[in-house]
Amino acid sequence: MTKGVQPWRRLVEILEGALILGLPFLKIDGQSALRFDVPTLRLYFFGSTLWMDEFFIVLVAVIFLVLLFVLVTLIFGRIWCGWVCPQTVLTDYTGFLDRAKKKGPFSKAASYGAALVVCIIVSASLIWYFVSPYEFFGRLAVGQGLSRTLWGFWIVLSGTLFLNFAFVRHKWCATVCPYAKLQSVMFDNKTLVIAFDPSRKQECMNCMACVKACPVGIDVRKGPDAACINCAVCIDECTKIMGARGKKGLIGYFWGLPGETAKRMLRSNALFTGALTAASLVFLVYLAASRITLGLDVLPDYNFPPRAVQHEAVNSFFLLIENRGSRDEELDIRARGLKGSKARPGRVLIKAGQEGKFQVFIVAPAQAQGGAKSFEMEIESERTGKKLMQKTNFIFPQGSGGEQKP
Ligand code: SF4
Ligand code: SF4
Repeated sequence: MTKGVQPWRRLVEILEGALILGLPFLKIDGQSALRFDVPTLRLYFFGSTLWMDEFFIVLVAVIFLVLLFVLVTLIFGRIWCGWVCPQTVLTDYTGFLDRAKKKGPFSKAASYGAALVVCIIVSASLIWYFVSPYEFFGRLAVGQGLSRTLWGFWIVLSGTLFLNFAFVRHKWCATVCPYAKLQSVMFDNKTLVIAFDPSRKQECMNCMACVKACPVGIDVRKGPDAACINCAVCIDECTKIMGARGKKGLIGYFWGLPGETAKRMLRSNALFTGALTAASLVFLVYLAASRITLGLDVLPDYNFPPRAVQHEAVNSFFLLIENRGSRDEELDIRARGLKGSKARPGRVLIKAGQEGKFQVFIVAPAQAQGGAKSFEMEIESERTGKKLMQKTNFIFPQGSGGEQKP
């Protein structure tokens, strides 16, 4: 059985690192699982491709995540800070910098070098969410190199991260981090916190182990502190000290401060925030499920005036079709509401993620009087059966005979 909180935190940090570094390499239907492609302004998201004009879905997803964040903070406190925040996780990954301070100049220099390598890798992994790592390494491998913008971004980001993790580290959490400042607004007296149990104050041996180990240098025994990042290091230290004397640690997780009454996870503000979060999730799922991956625009072909060919009337149209999906689509074309009509061609193929312009002739039995008739140009996916249509007009030329051919 794993002892203390730290081994669990390490496990979460390793999984998070593996996820962030590994996700850009994962492909679904030939595309990155998660990547925003800057040249085409498209977001690849686990097999779906969102085009720029669908970014309202991303906005709803952001609203959902913000509400979820507030809800998690209200119930579980600064669990984000202690367990998954990249600042905490990367500070822990580069913990060798703190240990090297007590050693000689060679160890210090080596630890700074290692930290720089970590920062270069982390910066590259962030770029892979915009430029596929296969393209990234492919270009480097053939000596083609990256664009100036990419090089610049990589160098500046690596430098900024290095300065942050070499010199700022946990000072960021205690001074600059806006979330740390906001958390007091999101907490109530039943939020999960790490605290010293004042009812056992007399048992404290004043060994200072908890204070010495605290990465932000606070004394948890003095009560809640906005600088606390909920890392639980003090819990493990006190558990070790008190455990050696056969006693339970004096520091632990508490729903609200120790000694507070009526500890309930579910209370009105949590229920209200939870309901808003659930509602935004339902709306997000609805938007994603009802999303149509085809786009259609129908334009008359002004270079081909409507004409009669023997006993048939012929009109020409341009169909602008978008395939926003991740698979090629074969589409049947029909003129709905135009009796006896045929489309030529009656089927087109459009590749995944492509836009295409197709000239389509609609042929209908001619009418002696001529005139315009409204109808719906319809495309239907052969694969999914999903249909899309747009209203337009068919022009019957005067008379039913004619010698011109399309
Ligand atoms: S008080 Fe405890 S939980 Fe808070 S930052 Fe210090 S060691 Fe971590
Ligand atoms: S580690 Fe425990 S016993 Fe030691 S000073 Fe901190 S709270 Fe007291």
